[in-house]
Amino acid sequence: TIGMLAIDKNGDIAGACTTSGLAYKMQGRIGDSPIIGSGLFIDNEIGGCVATGLGEEVVKTVGSFLVVELMRQGKSPQQACEEAISRIVSKPNSNYKDFQVGYIAVNKKGETGSYSIHQWFSMTKFQNGKNEQIQADFYNK
Ligand code: ASP
Repeated sequence: TIGMLAIDKNGDIAGACTTSGLAYKMQGRIGDSPIIGSGLFIDNEIGGCVATGLGEEVVKTVGSFLVVELMRQGKSPQQACEEAISRIVSKPNSNYKDFQVGYIAVNKKGETGSYSIHQWFSMTKFQNGKNEQIQADFYNK
């Protein structure tokens, strides 16, 4: 998945995602990316989030909606992404070692966050005329 979040000078937030789906997927399988709230969610009052990784795990936690709701409750984008990953990895019998999920998020103030289960999830942030490559912090150290 390639996920994109944008916030303009008026604080209006937009997001998009594109996905190739999952390799060897069952016919008819729908991933998280086309499901609003799972692979992508924007609430222009609060912020936005996009997900990548194993869509089934994102759908089970309605991940992007969860991140935005956590920001609504006062969490920073970083804290919200971390808690949404924690919901996945702390499920009883979670086999998170076998799959990746990552989130990026932005809030109404333009603060950003990113977090994944495993290493090598990265995002590029363009702000104040500068590109910054960010390797997301991750759970499985
Ligand atoms: N999230 C996508 C899916 O499960 C996979 C991807 O990251 O592209 O369909």
